[in-house]
Amino acid sequence: MNGWRSDGAFLVGLGCLVAGFGWVFATQPVGSDRMVALQVGQGDCTVLQVEGRTVMIDAGPAGANFDSGRRVVWPMLRRLGVRKIDLLILTHPDLDHVGGLSSLAELIPIDQVVMSEAFRYHPMVTSFPSLDLRFIRSGESVQIGTAELDFRSYLFGPDDNERSLITRVKWRGSTAVFTGDAGFREEQAILREWSGADWFKAGHHGSDESTSTGLLQAWKPNYLLVSCGRRNRFGHPSPRVVAEGEAVGARVMRTDLMGHLEFIPTQNGWQFTRILRNP
Ligand SMILES: [Zn+2]
Repeated sequence: MNGWRSDGAFLVGLGCLVAGFGWVFATQPVGSDRMVALQVGQGDCTVLQVEGRTVMIDAGPAGANFDSGRRVVWPMLRRLGVRKIDLLILTHPDLDHVGGLSSLAELIPIDQVVMSEAFRYHPMVTSFPSLDLRFIRSGESVQIGTAELDFRSYLFGPDDNERSLITRVKWRGSTAVFTGDAGFREEQAILREWSGADWFKAGHHGSDESTSTGLLQAWKPNYLLVSCGRRNRFGHPSPRVVAEGEAVGARVMRTDLMGHLEFIPTQNGWQFTRILRNP
C-alpha cells in the first residue's frame, strides 16, 4: 500500500516505507479483485479486495441483540479469503457504521483505521478499541495497488451524519462513491469537485434527505446501491430515491432484498457479478 498524500506532501505510510504517490506497493492480482456490499441489516459495510489488499468502508451495525461484526462481517471476510483488513475507513461514529468494530478488532488484524478529523474528540471514538487510528483531512488520498482513493469531508453542520467522510474509489475504468450518511449540502460540494461515478452508494441508507435529484441527474450512475435493513423503521429507502435512480437508468440494488452483492471493476465501469450467500 502506498503513502498518504495531502497537497503533494507525503504523510505516513501504512506499515511500510513510503516511496511516493503512484508507487505500487506489493500488491498482486489474486483473482479476487472485487467489491462486495455486505447485507448487514440497517447499517453499512462494504469490502474492497484490491490486488491482495483489503479495504473496508464501515464495519456494520451492532446493538443490544445483534452484532453484525461477529455474526455477518467476520464470517463473510473469511469466506472472501480475507485474513487482515489493511485499511478500514469509518465514515462517522454512529453505531450502524462502527458498531461491528469492537468484535472485529478481536477477530481479525486491522492495520489502519481512518476517520475524518472532525471526529478526533468524539466520545464514541475515544472509546474505540486500541487501533492505529488516523484522522484525515478533506483532500487527502491514498493509492492501493492500481486503485486510487480520494477523501472529502465537510463541516457544514454540527450533525455527525453531515460530517461523514466521503470516499471515491477510482480503479481501472470504474468509479464508486460512498457518502456515508451525508446529505444534500455535502453532495452539492462533491458535485462541484468530482465529475461522476458509475456506482453510487445511496446516502444515508436511501433516506429522502440524501441522494439528491441533482446528483442522480448529473452523474447518472449505472448502479445505485442501497444498504438498509429489511422493513426498517425509518422507511429506507425513500420511494423518491428509488424512482429517481431508476429514472436516470440506474440499476437500484438493495442489500435488504438481495443479500451480499459482488461487483468487479472493468474498463467500462463496475459490473455486478453475483449474490453471495452467508457461509
Ligand atoms: Zn447510517
